[in-house]
Amino acid sequence: MKPAAAFLTGLLLLTAPPPAAGLDGAAIAARLLQAYPDHLKAVEGNVLVWRDGTRMPLDDGAGPKSFEALLAKPDLKDQFSMEYRPGKPDTPPAENSGPGRVRYEPFFKKMYGGCEDRAMARKLVTIGWLPRHRGGKAAVTTVNKVHEHLEAVSRELDELPDRFMKYLIPLSGTYNCRTVAGTGRRSMHAYAAAIDIAAAHSDYWQWTAGGARGKFPYRNRIPQEIVDIFERHGFIWGGKWYHYDTMHFEFRPELVQ
Ligand SMILES: [Zn+2]
Repeated sequence: MKPAAAFLTGLLLLTAPPPAAGLDGAAIAARLLQAYPDHLKAVEGNVLVWRDGTRMPLDDGAGPKSFEALLAKPDLKDQFSMEYRPGKPDTPPAENSGPGRVRYEPFFKKMYGGCEDRAMARKLVTIGWLPRHRGGKAAVTTVNKVHEHLEAVSRELDELPDRFMKYLIPLSGTYNCRTVAGTGRRSMHAYAAAIDIAAAHSDYWQWTAGGARGKFPYRNRIPQEIVDIFERHGFIWGGKWYHYDTMHFEFRPELVQ
């Protein structure tokens, strides 16, 4: 192979998306409507209809996307391009797999509000985190009753044996008006719908030196019992991503039904 062709092939390998989840339009529509009943009314063909009459296309018609395009310019359908499997994973995540990392920003911004907007402050409440263990406070959104779901998580985690507490306390953060590190994309923390548990016992892909072609080994120390509790209440875990972030959980009920 000529050097230029080899270079191009290398690029294609780097940017190829992971295997598709294979959900059809009807399944995607059903998942969205079931996950966000307070906001969404119906799906009419390719259009998602909100209760206030707003209409959003499910498919932008741009065709198959590279991994980078999935993250940078997704549509609503693309959010389901990788399957999130609840429960204990059999293997580390496949290269570039990151179910939940694809977020169509207009959808979440409309639902939760923009953190640069003062109106969003009225949607935040403070909850006690693992009160039996004096875990401190956490600011979360009331939109989609995320605060109630997170309190339910907290109650169950509070009942776990003491050996689990080092993973959960001190919390590393919930609400934070910021973008995903190294990108211009809004984090679920900016909507107060995500939580980072204890960073000291967590692993993050950017903390690992990349090897050949930027690959890096998977690492995790978070016990599955903790992941199971979050998933039961509609939160996905960043430990199921190739670009892993094992302290990170975010409310994405459309992916863990
Ligand atoms: Zn996080």
